Amino acid sequence: MARVYNFSAGPAALPEDVLKQAQAEMLDWHGSGMSVMEMSHRGKEFMSIATEAETDLRELMDIPANYKVLFLQGGASSQFAMIPMNLIGRSGKADYFRTGSWSKKAIAEAKRFGDITVSVDSERDGKFTSLPSAEGFNVSADAAYLHYTPNETIEGVEFAYVPASGDVPLVADMSSTILSRPLDVSRYGLIYAGAQKNIGPAGLTIVIVRDDLIGNPLDGTPAMFNYAIHADNGSMYNTPPTYGWYLAGLVFKWLKDKGGLEGMAEINQRKAAKLYHAIDTSAFYANPVAPECRSWMNVPFTLVDASLDADFLRQAGEAGLKTLKGHRSVGGMRASIYNAMPEAGVDTLVEFMAEFERKNG
Ligand SMILES: *Cc1c(COP(=O)(O)O)cnc(C)c1O
Repeated sequence: MARVYNFSAGPAALPEDVLKQAQAEMLDWHGSGMSVMEMSHRGKEFMSIATEAETDLRELMDIPANYKVLFLQGGASSQFAMIPMNLIGRSGKADYFRTGSWSKKAIAEAKRFGDITVSVDSERDGKFTSLPSAEGFNVSADAAYLHYTPNETIEGVEFAYVPASGDVPLVADMSSTILSRPLDVSRYGLIYAGAQKNIGPAGLTIVIVRDDLIGNPLDGTPAMFNYAIHADNGSMYNTPPTYGWYLAGLVFKWLKDKGGLEGMAEINQRKAAKLYHAIDTSAFYANPVAPECRSWMNVPFTLVDASLDADFLRQAGEAGLKTLKGHRSVGGMRASIYNAMPEAGVDTLVEFMAEFERKNG
């Protein structure tokens, strides 16, 4: 079976070169005589893998020295709780932007821990297809932090700007956009991402947090939910997700070889532009998202005649274009085109879409 173009939203495609390297090292990592999966997390081999991955990530994202990088488990969804547990104590209050399915979940979880102000709600007629302008929101002066979701993976809605939050620390769920382009980490108090979209395999969650924000969790916060404990122990308070950490490290090396985040941004922007162009220049396909906040990573689209959806998905699958079905809450199709999706995959999809339209339009 040849490898397909996998447009899954997550777990998502990984770079083929990375998978091949992992395969070559599977049974014997660098002469150790064992797989990375079988190594003690405290042994010198794994420690070298862990340190190098963190160093490479710090270099790729230009992470300032006063930020901790944590390699955790529990997915982005655990962060929905860990963030308020660790950060809300200063005032008991936080601001949240409600811009799609994932921020809705983050808000629901945060409400267990404090007084949450929804300072932006972009839902219109049950849909999330737009965002406020960069000046179109207020920040509560006494908020312990402002949480937002730079890229709403399900709706394909993405902020083209970093919200200005003044002295209030900005917290960002970057699960589906981290590493897709350069960013200024110093503008954020905390960045988090589940790995399975743009970093590596499911099971690893990365948290990048300014060190002055941690160390004052709510009373009763369990040790495993306390950032300071993970930070003080180099993410080895307990057994970390070692194999995911290793694979993430291989992805970081791959990104460096590809020209780092500047290089990725150029390719990602081009891939997204090609796909939106194909949708916008056809009366057969449509995308409901306002042009200024369309995602580079997740491109939802519908067929104007939804009765053709099943045929589209079946024929796309036969052409090696897989996992294009849209999220059940949005319908239609969604092409997730993270870093690991080659430009040739997008080109093939665009050609397929034109051909399908010719036959059925
Ligand atoms: C996928 C996703 C999540 C959920 O991630 P888990 O690791 O499954 O908990 C949260 N936020 C965003 C933006 C996502 O894309």
